[in-house]
Amino acid sequence: MPKRTPSNPWTKPAGKPIEGKAIPRPRRTAEVQAYLPEFLRGMAITMRHFFKNTKEMMLGQKPDPVLEALNEGVTTICYPEEKRPYPERFRGLHRLTLRDDGSPRCVACLCCSTACPAQCIHIEAGEYAEGDKRRGYERYPKTFVIDELRCIFCGFCVEACPCDAIRMDTGIHATPYDSREQFIYRKDLLMEFTGRDGSRTSANPRHEPGDPTHPGLSREQMDH
Ligand code: SF4
Ligand code: SF4
Repeated sequence: MPKRTPSNPWTKPAGKPIEGKAIPRPRRTAEVQAYLPEFLRGMAITMRHFFKNTKEMMLGQKPDPVLEALNEGVTTICYPEEKRPYPERFRGLHRLTLRDDGSPRCVACLCCSTACPAQCIHIEAGEYAEGDKRRGYERYPKTFVIDELRCIFCGFCVEACPCDAIRMDTGIHATPYDSREQFIYRKDLLMEFTGRDGSRTSANPRHEPGDPTHPGLSREQMDH
């Protein structure tokens, strides 16, 4: 048992009752129990300040805090009616860029889904039909799905894409939906989104298989 010392006077010595002085509880009078006088006192203080401040504002002795907040320089905005302009390099929802014929630039190489640290891109590659000049050179995304709820908006997919086929320049942030399914963005929707300039294409040149500018081997060269 700890010793009774001047700094620890309340330790009970063995076999002795605890020493101490009983302090009577303060009496709760009807006035205290009713709370009414304190309530009225508080209201009187509030009303005194209210009338004093109102009188000073009406006489122009004090600036109106509401009107003052509407002056230039206030940073509050009325979201969602007003939206703050996003920075130039803001990473918004993804979009799939298109070729001149309206098909996706994506060649289903899976670089983006491989680079994605959140593993939220799912792609199923398909072969172009027999006779299509792109058959044998590249594939197309039969399925292209991004789970925007899992996405961490790192931009790695955009960096990894060799075809400038995926971008995050829509300037749109994910809407606060109420179900997980609504955050699953499929190919058709991703192809619908435009960049901030309203374009679905990309200014970067695209060399289609069969074009003289295409950097790969031609079929004739491959046959020999
Ligand atoms: S931004 Fe990052 S997390 Fe989102 S899809 Fe692209 S790579 Fe994945
Ligand atoms: S978006 Fe780009 S990186 Fe992703 S599969 Fe298509 S071409 Fe490859």
